[in-house]
Amino acid sequence: MDELKLPLCGIDRLRMATDGHGVTALVVSCGCPLDCRYCINPFTHGDDAKFKTVTPEELYERVKKDDLYYLSTGGGITFGGGEPLLHSDFIEAFRRIAPEGWRFYTETSLYVPEENVRTAAGVIDRFYVDIKDTDREIYKKYTGIDGAEKVLDNLRLLKELAGSDRITVRVPLIPGYNDSDNVRASVELLKKMGLTDLDCFRYRVRKKAKNGADNGAEQAD
Ligand code: SF4
Repeated sequence: MDELKLPLCGIDRLRMATDGHGVTALVVSCGCPLDCRYCINPFTHGDDAKFKTVTPEELYERVKKDDLYYLSTGGGITFGGGEPLLHSDFIEAFRRIAPEGWRFYTETSLYVPEENVRTAAGVIDRFYVDIKDTDREIYKKYTGIDGAEKVLDNLRLLKELAGSDRITVRVPLIPGYNDSDNVRASVELLKKMGLTDLDCFRYRVRKKAKNGADNGAEQAD
């Protein structure tokens, strides 16, 4: 079997209580199947060939220096991206060599194959799911992909495997794409699915530069 490798865009060390408990290192993997109109990490997209890769052992060498902080605060590693659950097998292999006390978190769109969700459910302690919008047309318009149904199926599966206590669902108001009624409809649906930790907030869209280059957004309230 080929050695597992993660296309790595960067590591952000010593974050405090952001997308995880305690002190975490954010490991940003490259590659994402979605094309969100206000993507906050466009640098993670592009040709796989140009990204540097690391093995689980190489990643461990780079994050182990903060071991004491992780252990003393209940922190660990947050996998972000891009779409980190494209690399569930890598995360599983990495968990096998990481110290037992480290906790694992991920920020994911859940737009990934079902088997990746199954693998992730066995090795991630807490999931932060960016649902975008549960309406099929809004999701498609915003992400460029007809993926709302797949994401909801994966979310149901994740809830079954991991339990709602390990899932936070982020439900954004996305200027120009949905409104507060749409957010309310998503919240109702998610509650019916038995999900209880719902984080509603508004994307703050940055103003376009004069050359029209920047259409990004900050995920802030
Ligand atoms: S899921 Fe995240 S990385 Fe992927 S396109 Fe959307 S905002 Fe960008």
